[in-house]
Amino acid sequence: MTSYTELGLVNTVELFKKAVSGGYALPAYNFNNLEQLQAIIQACVETKSPVILQVSSGARKYANQNLLKNMAKGAVEFAHELGHDIPIVLHLDHGDTYELCVDCIETGFSSVMIDGSHFPYDENVALTKKVVEYAHSRKDYVSVEGELGVLAGVEDDVSAEKSHYTQPSEVEDFLKKTGVDSLAISIGTSHGRAKFKPEQCTRDANGILIPPPLRFDILEEIEKKIPGFPIVLHGSSSVPIEYVKIIEKYGGKLSDSVGIPEEQLRRAAKSAVCKINIDSDGRLAMTAMIRKVLFEKPDEFDPRKILGPARDELKKLYSHKNVNVLGSANRA
Ligand SMILES: [Zn+2]
Repeated sequence: MTSYTELGLVNTVELFKKAVSGGYALPAYNFNNLEQLQAIIQACVETKSPVILQVSSGARKYANQNLLKNMAKGAVEFAHELGHDIPIVLHLDHGDTYELCVDCIETGFSSVMIDGSHFPYDENVALTKKVVEYAHSRKDYVSVEGELGVLAGVEDDVSAEKSHYTQPSEVEDFLKKTGVDSLAISIGTSHGRAKFKPEQCTRDANGILIPPPLRFDILEEIEKKIPGFPIVLHGSSSVPIEYVKIIEKYGGKLSDSVGIPEEQLRRAAKSAVCKINIDSDGRLAMTAMIRKVLFEKPDEFDPRKILGPARDELKKLYSHKNVNVLGSANRA
């Protein structure tokens, strides 16, 4: 059994307090390999941003949880070596059972999400409460994120056909009964790189899909019910058209890609939204560069020369997010 404190990691409690009062959101970037982790840490050290490293259950299966834990420990040392110690959280994304959450906590995760949002309300409450009771009873206090409302889209093991928005009338009761440290809500974000069906969108003059706007009215209503309480947005990639174009130029096929415009996320980050999950954008940046390199250098077969440029692009993307979208730069 390991405590996250031995790994040099922190939970989210203090970070969220500062983010809510400071009007910014922490980046929650998913990782499952070395290059992603290098890019995240380099970007966050350079922009002096705290960071949440997210591991999904799919990533856990792909990369092994012990390896990931030790990579997170290595990330703390790497940041130090780069010259600036930033707060680093190791977070389980979309934990679906009590047992999985406990297993991750005992491995050294400093924060977990228990996602009971697809269950009926009372079952969601009971499951979430059970995880919170264990996580908070520990000496090291592991923070817990719950979810109300369902996001559409596909993300690793998580998929839902239809979204339904968070009901503001439920949030107060949910917090009281479960004791969660933060709450993921559904206000129109969505998992994956095709967040909306074309028929849900309009098109601009160039035929580019314009998504329906986020439901800021619901967010405001929720904020009124639970003032200052940390809110989380999942599925918040913007799906940059430049990356989609590069991927398609070099043989990929990503029809009907559409994300959440960055200015809407910036607006959300200024509210009580204090954690914004971004995964698909990183996948797109990496894939775009890998395809480009493989096409332009057909004789290249050194994985470092193929993944290196992808890593550099990823770092650029994350720096941009911290500075221009989340507002988390210079907060660490
Ligand atoms: Zn999610």
